[in-house]
Amino acid sequence: MNPRETDPVISAARDETTARGETFYPGASRGQLAAFPPKERWDNWTELDSQAWPKRKERHYSLVPTTCFNCESACGLLAYIDKVTGDIQKFEGNPEHPGSRGRNCAKGPATLNQIQDPDRILYPLKRTGKRGEGKWEQVSWDGVLDDIAARIRKAIVEDRRNEIMYHVGRPGEDGFTERILAAWGVDGHNSHTNICSSGSREGYQLWMGLDRPSPDHANAKVILLISAHLESGHYFNPHAQRVIEGKANGAKLIVFDTRLSHTATHADYWVAPYPGSEGAMLLAIANYLIQNNLYNREFVRRWWNWEEYEESFKSQVSSSKFDQDLEASDSNAGSRVEKVSLPPPTFEQFEDHLKQLYAHYTFEFAAQESGVDAKTIAEIAKLIATAGTRFSSHNWRSVSSGVSGGWAVARAVFMLNALLGAIATEGGVFPNAWNKFVPKPIYTPPHPKMWNETQWPREYPLAMHEMSFLLPHFLKDGRSKLDVYFTRVYNPVWTNPDGFSWIEMLTDPDLVGCYVALTPTWNETSYFADYVLPMGHGSERHDIHSYETHDAQWLGFRQPVKKADRQRDGETVADTREVNPGEVWEENEFWMELTWRIDRDGSLGIRQFVESKKNPGTRLSVDEYYEWIFDNSVPGLPEKAAAEGLTPLGFMRRYGAVEIKQRVGKIYEEPVDASELDDTREDMRGRIFTRTAKPASPNVVPVPSPEGDADGRRLVGVRVGDEIKRGFPTPSGRLEFYSSTMAEWGWGEFALPTYIKSHVHPDNLEPGQTILISTFRLPVQIHTRSANAKWLDEIAHTNPLWIHTHHAANLGVRTGDLLRVETEIGYYVVRAWVTEGIRPGIVACSHHMGRWKLGEQGEKAQRQMMATVKLDHEGTEWGLKREKGAAPYESSDPDTLRIWWSDVGVHQNMTFPVHPDPISGMHCWHQAVRVVRAEPGDKTGDVFVDTAKSREVYKKWLAMTRPADKFSPDGTRRPYWMLRPLKPAREFYNLPQEETGAPGVK
Ligand code: SF4
Repeated sequence: MNPRETDPVISAARDETTARGETFYPGASRGQLAAFPPKERWDNWTELDSQAWPKRKERHYSLVPTTCFNCESACGLLAYIDKVTGDIQKFEGNPEHPGSRGRNCAKGPATLNQIQDPDRILYPLKRTGKRGEGKWEQVSWDGVLDDIAARIRKAIVEDRRNEIMYHVGRPGEDGFTERILAAWGVDGHNSHTNICSSGSREGYQLWMGLDRPSPDHANAKVILLISAHLESGHYFNPHAQRVIEGKANGAKLIVFDTRLSHTATHADYWVAPYPGSEGAMLLAIANYLIQNNLYNREFVRRWWNWEEYEESFKSQVSSSKFDQDLEASDSNAGSRVEKVSLPPPTFEQFEDHLKQLYAHYTFEFAAQESGVDAKTIAEIAKLIATAGTRFSSHNWRSVSSGVSGGWAVARAVFMLNALLGAIATEGGVFPNAWNKFVPKPIYTPPHPKMWNETQWPREYPLAMHEMSFLLPHFLKDGRSKLDVYFTRVYNPVWTNPDGFSWIEMLTDPDLVGCYVALTPTWNETSYFADYVLPMGHGSERHDIHSYETHDAQWLGFRQPVKKADRQRDGETVADTREVNPGEVWEENEFWMELTWRIDRDGSLGIRQFVESKKNPGTRLSVDEYYEWIFDNSVPGLPEKAAAEGLTPLGFMRRYGAVEIKQRVGKIYEEPVDASELDDTREDMRGRIFTRTAKPASPNVVPVPSPEGDADGRRLVGVRVGDEIKRGFPTPSGRLEFYSSTMAEWGWGEFALPTYIKSHVHPDNLEPGQTILISTFRLPVQIHTRSANAKWLDEIAHTNPLWIHTHHAANLGVRTGDLLRVETEIGYYVVRAWVTEGIRPGIVACSHHMGRWKLGEQGEKAQRQMMATVKLDHEGTEWGLKREKGAAPYESSDPDTLRIWWSDVGVHQNMTFPVHPDPISGMHCWHQAVRVVRAEPGDKTGDVFVDTAKSREVYKKWLAMTRPADKFSPDGTRRPYWMLRPLKPAREFYNLPQEETGAPGVK
């Protein structure tokens, strides 16, 4: 051993580090001091013990990588494991992770608080009283598994598979649990996406087939954010560091946000529009590019499906009909447009029509809708016009999750990229799947042979994800019931709108037979569970993931760090429970064991998907599962591992991530190889269909599946000039300015990018109403996951109502005064925060606070961020009254005696009714509210709701839909080409024959 290896004062300067043959990791400032320990020392890293100061006491650590589980970014972490005690001392960034590059937000290192949380759940618990009574007994994992497995087996055997449902918050993994459900033959995957991001996804999918953007902010000239990416947003830390890099390189940053977010404070242009008007501003910018010929003409000619538009809209029987269509494209009342065949249109004709179509989106119109000065919008338009193909943009959540028609905002923002040709360019925006790698797993069970209407109801054929937040209403409608209902890292009572309806559902044993909460920590939904099962945090479990953080493909590996550490020392760890606290388990092992027990003898054909290939007849281990993937499905990994004398699994355990490819580039421009062009057919729009089967790929990232031709050939590419190019995964193979899907499924008025007046447009408000923005989050908290992370809780623990100075003056309100915020179904009581950081007349409240526990739970609940409340109800009228705020308490952690805050905010989501967008299915979060002074007796955090009113609002929004059984063009439930988690077998897309009354249905 090099004697200097344990020298605590060894130099971290670049030259000296590299001279020792060690890896030098610069920090974000690119300074000359190393920011991270060189990887060559990760087996034995020495630091001085800060608590022993001024003594120079050395401590020795194993540094073991994992990935953070506190948001969807999956940034790399390095656990510092004390070599003497075996305890984790701290978490820092992993410089080997290509997405996060060693950097984390505050929530990454706070993983330490979570694993040391004195209130965490350590053992499996079973309810002994009524649901919600707070009575629990500790039970064995064996008993739990046998009980649940028997119920699931019975439901499968009796063909009640629609009564099994798994409901996940942020998955944090790439398809493991979907495959478990597929192995069971169950269409039971339910997710939180329709309360999160379906709005944006719909807008992006309509354009490019894929539902998420991957912006190359670092290389952009102009960056447009309709979200708060520097403090939250999607993949926010990896994106935030690249936005700042872009700015450092001279990029201009434009931010649309009604609130002065942290992101807005860094902007060159911050505009605070009227909520929901963003689409009008974006289309005014698009119109400026169009009218002034500032768009990338060649790109539009090659890659937009303008010919299809011309055939379908422009080439109508008469010019007067065309004029009507122009009007229809801009109104909310639609009509189906008939297609006719006419001589081929020219691009010049299309350009003329494009100018006509968008001419009315003037800066003045945008100013009138948004309240933003027309001159400012014009300046922004001119700036964007200078970006060329180096224009990056992102809309995630924010307005697209706030208002009805929010999906049209994401569609409008991507239209700017489509006009500039800034797609898959350096500094532009990539389709997400091109910057993502999902390795083929050891087993791929077939698509389930069923369709679950409780998640994918016919009223929402174009929804991007499951209609999860309507579940209580569907069960109350009598559409279905649940025998086994799992939630995993999900807390619908608290996170979803209309939480009291969830409590009504969960406390009704006729609706939910057995509710199993898989969770590391207590949450508001778990109080009503039958089983509460302790699951691991980010350093206590396995997962793999790959996200679109930049133009590259990488794979991250989450792992139980103590297991990896012991394996480094040559020990064998068979089960994560051996290294985790108490009997905390990991989900992968749990699901595999449960699956094994559902079909112990293999007679149901399920067991085969969790059986070891190495030792047939025994259950697959987690090590074998990942070993197979890393050996067989990750290009370049075996070679990289061999170069270091490691196995591929050993490499991933040591470094926690691998980069697969840099600069993926323009996949749509790639020519299709001749080997894929067997017996081809070309249609009138240049789509090329082939008989060649799709080549096997180790990357199984979900992509849309556009229809093939009538003879069974698949769509392989499109003709562009003399070449057959790969194109985009859309029905046309091109970027879809015109969406035939929208036209054919009954939404012809939205076949083109357009502006939609939302449910909170001034035309739709009653006198005295204002808008509440509830979609933003505080940077240091993430939903349920980060509660009881003491460092984070001390920084942010309450959510006052943002109210503008003028608005507050009108109400005679000062900061700290109590207000009532009245919604359609009830009200909540909150403290005012008077600020000039919000558009006058609009109010805002972060959705991350107001955590609560029932008094009945006693100490079986989190105590650092939860108020103790009393739930009362009479009939459909529910009240949540605060009895006690947070307070110091004795525990194994002396810091719990230092809690100095008591106000933990208000749970506002309970007072929101469901607002499902009839197209995307997204819950539209913005609320039309009345803000008044609190009444005598009101306390901060009080909530009142009438769930009978919730039902009325649900029915009102349901009536806005255009269901598949009336509008499907082909008798199916949903366009097959669109993305859908856990797609059922093709034949189960068909509606039952007697129920197909739609025009065009055979
Ligand atoms: S919480 Fe922070 S550190 Fe953790 S994955 Fe998200 S952005 Fe990264």
